[in-house]
Amino acid sequence: MRTWAEIDLDNLEYNIKKIKELSHDRDIMAIIKADAYGMGAVTIAKELSEMGVKIFGVSSLEEGIELRNNGIKDEILILAGTFNEELEEAEKKNLQVTLTDLSQINYIFDKKLSLKVHIKVDTGMGRVGFTVEEGKKAIDICKEKNINVVGIYSHLSVSDESDEESINYTKNQLKKFKEFEKLEEIKYIHILNSGGILKFSEIPQSNLVRAGIIMYGVYGEGIVENLKRVFTLKSRILFLKELKEDIDISYGRVGKGYKNDLIATITVGYADGFRRELSNKGTVEIHGVSCKIVGKVCMDMLMVKIPDEIRSHVNVGDEVVVMGEDIFQKSKMVGSSIYELFTGLSRRVSRVYLKKGKPHLVNSLIGKY
Ligand SMILES: *Cc1c(COP(=O)(O)O)cnc(C)c1O
Repeated sequence: MRTWAEIDLDNLEYNIKKIKELSHDRDIMAIIKADAYGMGAVTIAKELSEMGVKIFGVSSLEEGIELRNNGIKDEILILAGTFNEELEEAEKKNLQVTLTDLSQINYIFDKKLSLKVHIKVDTGMGRVGFTVEEGKKAIDICKEKNINVVGIYSHLSVSDESDEESINYTKNQLKKFKEFEKLEEIKYIHILNSGGILKFSEIPQSNLVRAGIIMYGVYGEGIVENLKRVFTLKSRILFLKELKEDIDISYGRVGKGYKNDLIATITVGYADGFRRELSNKGTVEIHGVSCKIVGKVCMDMLMVKIPDEIRSHVNVGDEVVVMGEDIFQKSKMVGSSIYELFTGLSRRVSRVYLKKGKPHLVNSLIGKY
């Protein structure tokens, strides 16, 4: 294997238990949109289902159907809205939908669809949804029209930021959502995402949390101390050379001045999801030692300088930790977030699921084994 993501299922299970505690025992909707943030939605859903998770959140109709086609029988909610013409298919596949405007309610009524719906209220995200007042009305209209409202929810936009202004903004969102806390006839009332779970789970409103990135032991502001890290991106040394001539390294010739250094070529590049902004400044880890990337990251490979302390014992084939504990720093270095680094992992990166530290399942371009 050239490049693979190790996904530690024991740590995932540990985190799920902890998240349940952190959420004051609320139920967990596991958000597994975007292929479970790059971890592999079908496998992650199966594992989480065995761990007792009973409801999943995805973004699109297709993501929901993928789970159904692969035997996931639990409740599934499509979060990022649906177009009216998708609603029949959602009904057929028993996927719950998010309603964000009245035309959807009328459509469901006219077509006599027996869908389970969640009403989405915009308390400050500014993306989709009813205002609080409209949301209350929408619930009444659904009642009149016999549409099965199983959820009411909203989304927090800065729950993972710690400055005072952000905290006040979140508090205001939560306050607006309080309007819905007493709706006992509605099964799921939910607003807390990863940041919310960590910082605001003492609120009385809501009975379900939507856990996304926190399942992997990280969130918007970095690694969560009480959780375990699930994800590590690994690769290998393909080639080693002592640079005998005064040549420059990689495209664009920005890797200069490495004559007589030991340079290793690693089999990971930007087409795997390793960001090009890390060219000539990022690091990877070999035998526990940080090694600087020299020159530009290529599509399929990158070069590093081997530090003197490990120079005598590196070999072709050796394992390289490309992104692990340092994923938050790397995300900052490229001006992005852990979310984007996770979801940017490409299809050709094999996903290796670990149990008890050993590969339990591999999902790669050539299949599952
Ligand atoms: C993505 C998403 C989540 C999960 O967010 P995290 O920050 O990963 O916990 C929750 N709710 C909605 C509506 C989302 O789109």
